[in-house]
Amino acid sequence: MPTPLMPDRLLRAILRDARAHRPRECCGLLVARGDRVESHLPLRNATSAPAAFSIDALDCAAAEQRLRRTGRRPAGVYHSHPFGPPHPSRRDRDLLWGEHAGWQLIVTPGGAWALWQPTRGPWRLLQQGAL
Ligand SMILES: [Zn+2]
Repeated sequence: MPTPLMPDRLLRAILRDARAHRPRECCGLLVARGDRVESHLPLRNATSAPAAFSIDALDCAAAEQRLRRTGRRPAGVYHSHPFGPPHPSRRDRDLLWGEHAGWQLIVTPGGAWALWQPTRGPWRLLQQGAL
C-alpha cells in the first residue's frame, strides 16, 4: 500500500487529543477508507504507567467492527509522546510490530509528528512534519 497522505485536519485533531491527555499518552486508530487515511478513532489508554500506552484488545476489536460496518478499516495506530520526540521508544519497537501494527503515527504536544512503518529492525520513517 502506498504511503498515505496525512490530512492536516487529521493531524490537528490528533494533536488536540495529545494535548488534552498530557502528561499521559493518548492513543487510537488511524482510520482509512479505500487507500486514504481520513480520520482517527480515539481509544482508551489502558495503562496508567507514565510514558506508555496500551490499547485494550476488546476495545480494539469492537472499534474495528464498528469501522468495518461503515466501509472503513483501521490503517494503523497513533499515540503521543508527551515528553519526547516522535520517534519509537524501545517499548514501541518491542510491542508494536507484526500483523496488526500497520502504520504508526507518533505526535508530540508541541506539534511534531512522524509516520513510521514498524519492522523487526529499525522502523522505517515514512513521513514527518510539524504543525
Ligand atoms: Zn511511543
